[in-house]
Amino acid sequence: MRAMGRLSIVATPIGNLEDITLRALRMLKECDVIYAEDTRVISKLLARYEIQKPLQRLDAITEMKKASEVITRLEAGEHIVYVSDAGTPGISDPGARLVASVRELSSESIIETIPGPSALTAAISIAGLNITDFIFLGFLPHKKGRQTLFKEIADEKRTVIFYESPHRFIKSLTALANSLDETRTVTVCRELTKIHESVIKGNAKEVFDYFTQTSEEVRGEFVVIVGSC
Ligand code: SAM
Repeated sequence: MRAMGRLSIVATPIGNLEDITLRALRMLKECDVIYAEDTRVISKLLARYEIQKPLQRLDAITEMKKASEVITRLEAGEHIVYVSDAGTPGISDPGARLVASVRELSSESIIETIPGPSALTAAISIAGLNITDFIFLGFLPHKKGRQTLFKEIADEKRTVIFYESPHRFIKSLTALANSLDETRTVTVCRELTKIHESVIKGNAKEVFDYFTQTSEEVRGEFVVIVGSC
């Protein structure tokens, strides 16, 4: 009888390399091969835990092509781990199309989650907001539809959470300051789990002033939470 393949979707740290579960480490040690969004990024984690494994790249561009390679290997009974650069695969990261392909084309393979860190849940845990329900937007569009989107955020009654890169952060804060009224809170969770972890909270104008009235260049990774009204 042919052995069933196994695909483990493994969450990895979002900064601090100690934030990895015992089960994730065991999967990384026991699997036949690790497919990673960027093999250089995962190499640092593997070196920290003295794990040596064959590595293959599977990023957003190669996801579909590499998915068929993964399926061939699963059909041969291999145990494959997939990791993105940070946090949980499939959350503003590749992984979803891989899982969908395996589910469709290799239905006997086991697909399992090895849960762990995500900037989304880490931010919620430290924001100190009473979040009963929320909308997660991932990364906001770069150009088209931004104005409409910020209007929708302003009109939204529920908490709205999005990811922001350092390059676009001030642009998004400016848009929030121009569209939200002063009763609405904005919480910025920066560099979570890293040395410069911080949480800045205020209305949109106050948060905008905080980040712009400094001579230092704004750096880091951000989760932005617009409070409910
Ligand atoms: N898959 C990841 C997860 O589960 O959170 C998200 C990956 S996405 C490509 C990267 C974005 O997540 C960053 O631009 C930032 O908005 C957010 N992020 C990741 N790590 C973070 C951290 N340590 N602190 C704050 N935000 C972070």
